[in-house]
Amino acid sequence: MKIIDILNKKTMSLSFEVFPPKKETSFESVKETTEKIAESKPAFMSVTYGAGGGTSRFTLDIARTIEEKHGVPTMAHLTCVSSSKDLIHNKIEEIHSMGIENIMALRGDLTPELENTDRSKWDYRHAVELIREIKESGYDFCIGGACYPEVHPESENQREDIKHLKEKVDAGADFLVSQMVFDNNLFYNFLYKIREAGIMVPVIPGIMPITNAIQVEKAIKLSGSFMPQRFKAIVDYFGQDPESMKQAGIAYATDQIIDLYANGVTNVHVYSMNKPDVAETIMHNLSNILWKDYGVK
Ligand code: FAD
Repeated sequence: MKIIDILNKKTMSLSFEVFPPKKETSFESVKETTEKIAESKPAFMSVTYGAGGGTSRFTLDIARTIEEKHGVPTMAHLTCVSSSKDLIHNKIEEIHSMGIENIMALRGDLTPELENTDRSKWDYRHAVELIREIKESGYDFCIGGACYPEVHPESENQREDIKHLKEKVDAGADFLVSQMVFDNNLFYNFLYKIREAGIMVPVIPGIMPITNAIQVEKAIKLSGSFMPQRFKAIVDYFGQDPESMKQAGIAYATDQIIDLYANGVTNVHVYSMNKPDVAETIMHNLSNILWKDYGVK
């Protein structure tokens, strides 16, 4: 099933992101974990793509298992920056042959090694080129693109970032998924600005439940996201007690999701960090809210 069709239903829904293992030896246990998350029956699940594509086989195996065995629609992430055209063409063929209908088309992060190579020799510089290529493949994929409510770190300013985001949508991105936000107001401001710029496709906010103090540092380093004082107070107070921190972190994420729904957002993408208990608790917290149509247009 195509994700855009799920989004167009306008019922309150939740989706989860999972990641594949880095090593073959952990493949079975990671797959089992992602299947447990699928059992909580989210609207769809996305499976990330390891930088450089070395573990892309795991991405596709996990996506196919979730879809075939659990009936949960999946989206395979695909990055292009360190890949050749041949490799990307093969990947697109493979995704299609596995019956996966949704691709999250990404550039990928610039590793220090990549930064030191000659950019004129790269086959891909930006995600927009990958989106065009997927379109040109002739397969009828539903395509997602990434967006950054707090501006991508490489962009000089938000205006430039939004200009390039519009290029991705014009090239064929059917919907956008945002970098994690811990302050919903940043997402609402961003939404206002991109609508003003003529970007009208659905935008799914990314929410990361922080369930331990170490994860906070990692999340900020990875995303550069702003941590509101209200959230910092939770980490300061409960961070030393794992069980309390987990409960408080899930409650904070749940609160963010409810606020998003109450402000007209119908789908929220949760960075599940491969934690089935976290996914299940959030689904449970929202059990009377999900799958209803509140007349949001
Ligand atoms: P782009 O859209 O190419 O943007 C990157 C930068 O280039 C931005 O500053 C943009 O403004 C600028 N830009 C874009 N087009 C142009 C242009 N034509 N000319 C000049 N500048 C331009 N990484 C992984 O390795 N695997 C994953 O599975 C993965 N999943 C992700 C999921 C989500 C929801 C998000 C938000 C990020 C994910 N990432 C993943 C990280 C992502 O690869 C990085 O954030 C990367 O640095 C940018 O990817 P992008 O697709 O947004 O790139």
